[in-house]
Amino acid sequence: EDEKRKYVKGKKLGEGTYANVYLGHVRHDPATLVAIKKIKVQQQYLDGMAPDAVRELKYLRELCHPNIISLLSVFSSKDQNLNLVLEYLPLGDLEMLIRDVDRVRYGAGDIKAWMGMLARAVWFCHDNHVLHRDIKPNNLLIAADGDVKLADFGLARSFADPGRRMTANVITRWYRPPELLFGARHYGGAVDVWSVGMVFAELIIRAPFLAGNTEVEQIALICKQIGTPTEDCWPGVSQLREYTVPADVVPVWGKEAYMGRFGAVGPDGVDLLVRTVALDPKKRITAREMLEHRWWRTDPKPTRKEDLPRKS
Ligand code: ADP
Repeated sequence: EDEKRKYVKGKKLGEGTYANVYLGHVRHDPATLVAIKKIKVQQQYLDGMAPDAVRELKYLRELCHPNIISLLSVFSSKDQNLNLVLEYLPLGDLEMLIRDVDRVRYGAGDIKAWMGMLARAVWFCHDNHVLHRDIKPNNLLIAADGDVKLADFGLARSFADPGRRMTANVITRWYRPPELLFGARHYGGAVDVWSVGMVFAELIIRAPFLAGNTEVEQIALICKQIGTPTEDCWPGVSQLREYTVPADVVPVWGKEAYMGRFGAVGPDGVDLLVRTVALDPKKRITAREMLEHRWWRTDPKPTRKEDLPRKS
């Protein structure tokens, strides 16, 4: 209740799938703007779940990193909605830049800078035992100083939408790793790394890399463009609950196959990309290993954040 009184809610900024977002400010400091995200909690899920989710979100408050959006406060309002008070980032997200092909130009150094910030954010989450679970360009918000900030931890969504995973999947399908598409119940940081790979590919080609319209189509696209997950490349995969792949097995593509479409980031960049999309999550590069990859040190250098392209 005290937390709630600290902030003044202003006009509505936008409406998301599972939340309304309002502009706000700190009561005793009107110059400090915040975004207040009011999660639409379904009544039937409130009992028992709410305290747990709030506790977990409070843990997220401790995650303090330049490339992770600050969660300043969490409180529930009279109407039982869950309110997240977030750092206010009015300059849009990476998706807006990727899509604005006519007005926004960027190159390998810019991609390297954005990917570096994303990799550091993901490493920091994993190092603190937090999975993001919903990495996509639209969840990478841009700060005034050019920093990219990872936002919208999937946790909040699973709280708004606990029994409706299929609905939630629709939003994130293009960035979903094969182990989740096959129904794996035990998964780890590798799920985020796959999404990072999809963002990397999308930054290069300026279109979603694997844009399936259904889960079945998503799996088919992965098989066609990356290779068919089989026991040979991924021991145990056929035991996953929802494992099904098209009958025509496609061998896993090597680096060379990616050079034509993704060569703009050079052979080292392509090497990193291929390692992020390893089908077997055990063989996928980890966030920490990503940071040690030689691509960051080869030319071109990552663009300084103040020189990065921004919304026009
Ligand atoms: P979606 O992910 O579907 O875009 P969100 O619920 O994340 O929906 O956000 C809805 C809108 O609110 C966004 O499009 C954006 O304009 C705005 N918004 C969200 N978070 C912030 C923030 N931290 N700072 C400023 N605006 C925000």
